[in-house]
Amino acid sequence: MAKQLLETLPDQTKKLITRYLDMRPVPLGKIAKEFGVKVFTSPLEQGISGQIAKENGDFVIRINKYESRQRQRFTLAHELAHYFLHKDIIENEGPIKDNILYRSGKSDTVEAQANRLAAEIIMPDEKIKSDLNQLRKNMDEETFDMIASKWEVSNQALRIKLSTVGG
Ligand SMILES: [Zn+2]
Repeated sequence: MAKQLLETLPDQTKKLITRYLDMRPVPLGKIAKEFGVKVFTSPLEQGISGQIAKENGDFVIRINKYESRQRQRFTLAHELAHYFLHKDIIENEGPIKDNILYRSGKSDTVEAQANRLAAEIIMPDEKIKSDLNQLRKNMDEETFDMIASKWEVSNQALRIKLSTVGG
């Protein structure tokens, strides 16, 4: 398995995040709070799923209030990933605004990294392994639904995870 992005974060950051990865679903709001990141659900510009900006010294994430809860969770994880990985870009270039495909005008690498770290946080490899093994034995819709709802992710996110994590 490729090295986790989570492993590349500073020790203290990693330690604070890891504390929450034993919980199901992973409490993203608490992780944000731990780092002093403010989170709001707001009516954003059309086609924007989420954004992160530095405002008056604080990092502020806004999530599109009209999207589904699972979608909002992934968006929050994605924006938190930008916070952990791309603070300097936000500080130097201004807010990152992600559209529904999580494209923001930043490089593909930046967006791919944010998606990867988001998936690592929302479905931690070690914790979700046994669920994925259960799925491999039993790939019916019902099992997908049950496991997706346990982690509060979309079935699609779960399918992607299944294809990227070894058994
Ligand atoms: Zn993004």
